[in-house]
Amino acid sequence: MVQSAVLGFPRMGRDRDLKKANEAYWAGKISRDNLLAEGKRLRLEHWKLQKDAGVDIIPSNDFAYYDHVLDHIQMFNAIPAKYSETKLEPIDEYFAMGRGHQKDGVDVPSLEMVKWFDSNYHYVKPTFQDGQTFKLASNPKPVVEFKEAKDAGITTRPVILGPVSFLALGKADRDQSVNPISLLDKLLPVYVELLEQLKNAGAETVQIDEPVLVFDLPLKVKNAFKPAYEKLSGSNTSIPKVILATYFGDIVHNFDVLPNLQSLYGIHIDLVRNPEQLSSVMGQIGSQQILSCGVVDGRNIWKTNFKKAIELAETAIQQLGKERVIVATSSSLLHTPHTLESEKKLDPEVADWFSFAAEKCKEIAIIAKAVTDGPATVRDQIEANAKSMQARASSKRTNNPQVKDRQSKVTDEMHNRQSPFPERLAAQKQHLSLPIFPTTTIGSFPQTKEIRIQRNKFTKGDITAEEYEKFIEKEIQDVIKIQEELDLDVFVHGEPERNDMVQYFGERLEGYVFTTHAWVQSYGSRCVRPPIIVGDISRPKAMTVKESKYAASISKKPMKGMLTGPITCLRWSFPRDDVHQSVQAQQLALALRDEVVDLEAAGIYVIQVDEPALREGLPLRAGTEREKYLSWAVDSFKLSTAGVKNSTQIHSHFCYSEFQDFFHAIAALDADVLSIENSKSDAKLLKVFVDQAYPRHIGPGVYDIHSPRVPSEQEIKDRIEEMLQYLKPDQLWINPDCGLKTRQWKETKAALTNMVNAAKFYREKY
Ligand code: GLN
Ligand code: ZN
Repeated sequence: MVQSAVLGFPRMGRDRDLKKANEAYWAGKISRDNLLAEGKRLRLEHWKLQKDAGVDIIPSNDFAYYDHVLDHIQMFNAIPAKYSETKLEPIDEYFAMGRGHQKDGVDVPSLEMVKWFDSNYHYVKPTFQDGQTFKLASNPKPVVEFKEAKDAGITTRPVILGPVSFLALGKADRDQSVNPISLLDKLLPVYVELLEQLKNAGAETVQIDEPVLVFDLPLKVKNAFKPAYEKLSGSNTSIPKVILATYFGDIVHNFDVLPNLQSLYGIHIDLVRNPEQLSSVMGQIGSQQILSCGVVDGRNIWKTNFKKAIELAETAIQQLGKERVIVATSSSLLHTPHTLESEKKLDPEVADWFSFAAEKCKEIAIIAKAVTDGPATVRDQIEANAKSMQARASSKRTNNPQVKDRQSKVTDEMHNRQSPFPERLAAQKQHLSLPIFPTTTIGSFPQTKEIRIQRNKFTKGDITAEEYEKFIEKEIQDVIKIQEELDLDVFVHGEPERNDMVQYFGERLEGYVFTTHAWVQSYGSRCVRPPIIVGDISRPKAMTVKESKYAASISKKPMKGMLTGPITCLRWSFPRDDVHQSVQAQQLALALRDEVVDLEAAGIYVIQVDEPALREGLPLRAGTEREKYLSWAVDSFKLSTAGVKNSTQIHSHFCYSEFQDFFHAIAALDADVLSIENSKSDAKLLKVFVDQAYPRHIGPGVYDIHSPRVPSEQEIKDRIEEMLQYLKPDQLWINPDCGLKTRQWKETKAALTNMVNAAKFYREKY
């Protein structure tokens, strides 16, 4: 029989229950026991949900109060001394590492948090010391949760992050020189101990995740697999059978690792992302090994195409036989929302195309049944699925012939500005007459409580569109007045009308839909609700012109129009899975191109197109795939911005400081002015602009906007002085690191006053 497996389930609960419980606990509103009880309730509910859906292999230890990597840090006692010294209760020590702790005389910052592969989930980075040791916690979490499920009558497969990935995803602590992977020998006995305890508790199999296998691995990391899995598999009968799971990519380039893994019980691969790896993996696995085929997408919200999934599974079965094949989700379902049932407002047409975590569990069970007992046994479900696929493929919402027609007419020239930068600069100088060291901000000004109240009222229908519009105009008037008082050079309208930099545009474009409950965990208790791209994208009418034009009409200085770029719109949404992302990016680019041209026609001669997500879209492995991505990503930015005259100045903004390895892509954007987050990093990083003889203008942020702290005028001057070691005076713009929406007015005014004064000082000097 072909079994069905889920690699992990979202933790938040149907109504973001875990978020609410965590935050209530942090605020001192519920007790520790209340929080732990809520965690237990959620785990149980999620196991039951999967069981009722017919899933054979249900995961445990996929739950985490904050982050699963952090769970491992604590379980293996890889806890930096500054946390263990606090002598906090385990759960508080855990949260202290995740989010910092500033209470009752304890003051520790959080550990570093970074993106989990190419997803929008963030994990806590293990941080190792020279001389690091490990020790298994008493009552380790995977054992406790396995027993908890067992007591409820559900036998689960515990999920553990593998030792190689745990180390390779970590780093040496500040001032420490240890290479994490060199700690393997010390770590392995702890894993063995954990696995033995799991076996004693009754676990027959475990899922050990080694997702780093999809990366280009340094030799030391590659070589770690053999010693690791000699200890964790095969002849050792005192531990459970191990399924080694990989996801988010293919493992073909790391095949030389696999022969060393022949003693493993089985391997899981992601066949949604890389279906083509199936045949090569089958050629490499051992003669007894199980192959878990990830055929239900753990990263997106689309219904699984049963026909395709069944075909893939059948291919595996033909070669390996039914007993050696498992059908599974491609990865953990952590990256999908809880259930489609919560969406009461979705158009039924599109709701029929979606499948969230709860629905995906049912899908995987149906696929397993189809390949075990024959498709006839689930005929109704397969037919209904085919109907949905058909409906989606032929829907007017999916296909817009006008959009396709327009895409077919995109030419190379459309990607290029009329003239090279020097000519544009001359035209812009004349047109905008800006001083040297021009000052500006990145777009948003503080989003006050009042703004949120009015927006809510408007969304609920408590105030009319006219009333809301009047309110927004008043806000714009206020920020213009403040910018005049501050004596900034290029103004912005402050973005008071925008809830979110992607959602705002999605709501104004054809081809997008929005959900009410489709939250996914981003980090800790923070969840995001990405809009969904369902069809060809087009712009029915101007999206931002009204506000920008109004702002320009009441201000004396140049007004900067503010847009979110095509890649950021794409990356921070659930994309379509039926057309390549480059196609979607180009459609977004064409819609934005029209907006840019309309802004120019409305008298907006400085236009900023933000692309903070450009870098995170980089494919996980270097090489052709990455180059291809950069090429279409850069093209989409250029297509969106190149429709204007020489005299119109295009800005772009990136909240990144690590732009060195990525420099050629940023340079290729050909933006007249680039603002980048830089205040927290070494000004030396700017050297790359000199080395590459970057000719255009740059605004490296002169102060950090993430903190309420007001930088002094002297500090900003010092920062500018440092920048001038690398950048030419007539090349440098003076601006903060990013938008100011999360700040209060008080510190914003104070910081910008100091910033403008610092700029004026240098203006005098040069
Ligand atoms: N224009 C946006 C703002 O100021 C940019 C936000 C961002 O880069 N994350 O809010
Ligand atoms: Zn930013």
